[in-house]
Amino acid sequence: MEKRDLIYEGKAKKVYLTDDPALVIVDYKDDATAFNGLKKGTIAGKGVINNRMSNLLMQRLEASGIPTHYVEELSDRETLVRRVSVVPLEVIIRNIAAGSFSKRYGVKEGVVFDQPTIEFSYKNDDLGDPLMNEYHALALHLASADEIALIKRYAFMVNEVLSAYWKERGVILVDFKLEFGRLSDGTIALADEISPDTCRFWDAQTSEKLDKDRFRRDLGGVEDAYSEMMRRLT
Ligand code: UDP
Repeated sequence: MEKRDLIYEGKAKKVYLTDDPALVIVDYKDDATAFNGLKKGTIAGKGVINNRMSNLLMQRLEASGIPTHYVEELSDRETLVRRVSVVPLEVIIRNIAAGSFSKRYGVKEGVVFDQPTIEFSYKNDDLGDPLMNEYHALALHLASADEIALIKRYAFMVNEVLSAYWKERGVILVDFKLEFGRLSDGTIALADEISPDTCRFWDAQTSEKLDKDRFRRDLGGVEDAYSEMMRRLT
């Protein structure tokens, strides 16, 4: 598979064309940002860990009946994925109150919900990814009603699969963000990444944070937390 032009460079990843128009290569960086790009830094080795973890989890999800963009891991930091047109929604599932939910509703971090919640943000950096409901997404033609229904179903399926997977490894899946895309035939597929950058992971015994909150909140031990999650994975 030949790597061609760089078509996109985001905060944590670069995307390259290949000789197959249906496939692109994702290259994971160690760069980290938080608070809509206000806080910047690097987390040594993060790209390698996020690449590996995301790929393993995507394969697990694919096996559970959720279509994903994953095709093949090419190297430590590079993965071949199906090219999608991104649905500009960040889909967030929560099992436990934390982060922006705790702040918005004035509830302590760690409150366990009776059932998981779902919410959407409009993926738009200039606007700061504002929270939106599905009627807003429909009004702005971000996705069809059928697509939104499917995205919701997949997102809750992902939560079931990954919560159980991490539980076996002594990790509580607190919350996470997903992004979906459309393949050329319109099929909705899970895209982007699933990693400590996009999930909150708490140690089941100690509740220690093992994710990007260590970077966001200057808790220290950022690299160690990513390495520990990698260790739990394998
Ligand atoms: N999240 C993400 N990208 C974003 C916003 C959130 O990956 O742009 C993830 C975040 O890591 C967490 C979950 O989505 O696992 C919920 O994040 P929250 O809304 O609490 O926002 P935060 O407190 O991170 O600003």
